Parts: sequence; structure tokens; C-alpha cells
Amino acid sequence: MGKIVAKFGGSSLSDAGQYQKVRNILLMDKRRVYVVPSAPGKRHAEDDKVTDMLYTAHRLHCAGGECNDLFGRIRDRYQTITDALHVDLDLEAEFRRIRQDIDGGANCDYCASRGEYLNGLLLSKYLGFQFIDPRDAIFFNENGMLDTERTNEVLGEALRKVENAVVPGFYGSAPDGTIRTFSRGGSDITGAVVARAADADVYENWTDVSGFLMADPRIVRDAQVIHSLTYKELRELSYMGATVLHQESVFPVQRAGIPTNIRNTNHPHHIGTMITVTPEAKGAEHIITGIAGRTGFSVISVEKAMMNIERGFGRKVLQAVEETGLNFEHLPTGIDSLCVVLETEQLDPVRDRVKARIMELTNPDTIDIQDDMGLITTVGRGMVHNPGTAARLFGALSHANVNVRMIDQGSGELSILVGVDSSDFETAIQAIYREFVE
Ligand code: ASP
Repeated sequence: MGKIVAKFGGSSLSDAGQYQKVRNILLMDKRRVYVVPSAPGKRHAEDDKVTDMLYTAHRLHCAGGECNDLFGRIRDRYQTITDALHVDLDLEAEFRRIRQDIDGGANCDYCASRGEYLNGLLLSKYLGFQFIDPRDAIFFNENGMLDTERTNEVLGEALRKVENAVVPGFYGSAPDGTIRTFSRGGSDITGAVVARAADADVYENWTDVSGFLMADPRIVRDAQVIHSLTYKELRELSYMGATVLHQESVFPVQRAGIPTNIRNTNHPHHIGTMITVTPEAKGAEHIITGIAGRTGFSVISVEKAMMNIERGFGRKVLQAVEETGLNFEHLPTGIDSLCVVLETEQLDPVRDRVKARIMELTNPDTIDIQDDMGLITTVGRGMVHNPGTAARLFGALSHANVNVRMIDQGSGELSILVGVDSSDFETAIQAIYREFVE
């Protein structure tokens, strides 16, 4: 029998009712043997996430403040679930130990990780699954990066010894034995790491949406769900701001050839979004897979006659960008011009400095910085085999009266990127969506 690793996000485990849904989901498919929980999330819009409360508690503690109330509230979250589900767990003792550890100087990561730890303990008791503490099976190196191979070995060994298990998300241990967490939302990474170590057939990521949407629903109302996409397409979309999954959770499963299935705990029969290494055989539903984008970009345009034959010109511009501590996103060039596209927020503090340095190094005819640009990427493996996709895209933008300030097509023909005025950003996404999907 194959194995499935099921990761459940905070909203999927926010109260006893959600816990019951999780159990039913696991009962629906016996291959769901390894479960990775986040900490309890919000039950309603005004509610607090347990992880946020834990970070606040640690901050308060370090500032010498009083955090009994806060810990009391956190304990209540678990106590209500424990009571409602009649789970035999001594929360009193657990909280006593946590308080002792924090009083003894345990770090912030330790405090934050207790949300997942306690949820994992509670869930394992409720399900009758084994509990594997990531402290003993997920390892970070001295640089704070995941030690992938050691983790894969030790975790794989631990999983092979048990029939089923709950492995809390978000944390592991540093070389000195202290607790270390991934960045926020990092339970997704734990899920992927467990899927790899278990050699799972599928990594299911259960959340509160039925998968990735073809466009941001705040911009395109009723945007359709993407039923299948490849990891490469996902990367293009998430780089431009489409979020559901933590970006770093892709690599462990992609490399191991394991598909990721985004599912909705509140609509368990919806097939969600399936992300695979190679395209699914049935082919793409639409020519495009999805549209994503972000505003807040600036363009530094450098012009110099005969730039194309001046050896080292591009390097000098990029040297100035690097020396001022900037990352660039794109680098469109013309015969006598070179543009550097970067985030305005990064540029702002060093705007004058980078300009002066480029002038010093390249002695250009003109240099000019323009702000307020939005970048939109239209992604789709189907575009490769469909001539005229770019023409349709630009036709749609021109009909919508959107002026295209920049164009870039990746070499894999997987995406077309356009730069537009921030004020045209939403209109442009709506126009592209209408052209290819509706
Ligand atoms: N609980 C952690 C957070 O809120 C990790 C996670 O949910 O994935 O960031």
C-alpha cells in the first residue's frame, strides 16, 4: 500500500470541530499514515493564531513583563479541544515544563514551536498515532539551514519503525540541541521533508482553500481553481506573489518526484490542485495556467550611445547595484540602453547612492529612475504549443487601454512577463484573464 503524508494548516486544526474533520479525512483513505500539524490558527477573523500569541509571550517575558494571562489563553485553546474530544493529555504538566524552560532561558524559537508541539501531542493522542518529536529527527546546521541529508536519514528511519505517526510542523533542532524553527508558515516545509523521508506517493497539504486560483480573487472575482500544474509553473507563479504554499516546501518533494496536492479541509471531496514534476497526461485545461503579479517596482534606465560595443558596460551597472546591496529582478536591454528592474522598497534608502555609482562607473548619456511599476506574469506550459499566445495577450492589454512598459519572455516559454503602470495593474490582470479563461 502506498503512503500519503497529510499536512494540516492552522485553520484545519483551530478547534475541536476541525479536529473531527481531520480525523474523518484520514479515515477516508488508509494510505494517510503520516500527519504533520501546524499550531491552532484563527477560529474567526478577530481571533489570534497560537503562534502569534507565543511570539508575543516570549517578547513580553524578555522585556520582564507579565505573561500569565497570555499563557492562560493559550492553554485554554488546547484545553477546550482536549475536553471536547475527551483526549487524555496532562496539559497542566506540559505548560509547567514550558514555563520552566522559558524561565531557564529557552530561546524564542523554542517558545514559538510549542504551538506545533502541543498540537502534535494532542492530535497523536486523539488519532491513536505515534508521536515523533522533530527535535530528534529534523536537523538544522550551524548556518540555520536544514541539514537535508541527515534529516532524511534519521527521520526516514524513525518513520519506518512505526505504522502511523504525527510529526509536528515548523521546528527541529540546531547542532547545540536547542530548538530551531523554519520561517513563518514553515510547517509546509516539514510536510515536504516528511513526504520525502517516507517516500510518499503524494504530499497532501490541507488548508482552507480548494487549491490555487488562476488569479488573485480580490482582482478577478470567481477566479477558477487550477486543477493541475507543474512545480516549474508554481515557481513562476509564486515568485510573483501567488501564495498558498511556503516556497521552500517545493524543493524536497520536487526533487524526489513526489506530487503535492493542495486540498480543502472544509470541502474534503474537492480534488484541489495537483502539482507534479511533469505535466499530467490529460493536458492543460486552458492555454494559460495562471496569472500572478505584484506592484511596487522601479526601473533604473541607463542610456549610452554605442553601449552594445562597450565591453563590461552591463557588468559595471550590476556592480553598482551589487555594491549598494540591491537585488535586481529583471534586466531588459536595448541596443543603447539597459534597464534594471528592482523593488522600490529596497531601492528607496540607496536611490541616490546607486545612481551616483552607476554614473561614476559607466559615464552614461542619461540615467533615470521610474517608479510605480507593476509586474504581471502569465504562466502556462500550454503556451509553448500554441502560436499566437503573445499576440492574444498584448491584444487583450491594448483593448483594455493598458500601456505595456516592459516585456520579458523566459527562455522556457513557460511565462510572459509584462511591466505596467501600477494604476493599470488590476485592469491588466482582468483583461488577460478574460482573454484566456472566460
Ligand atoms: N505556526 C507557524 C506559523 O504560524 C508555522 C505554520 O503554521 O506553518 O507561522
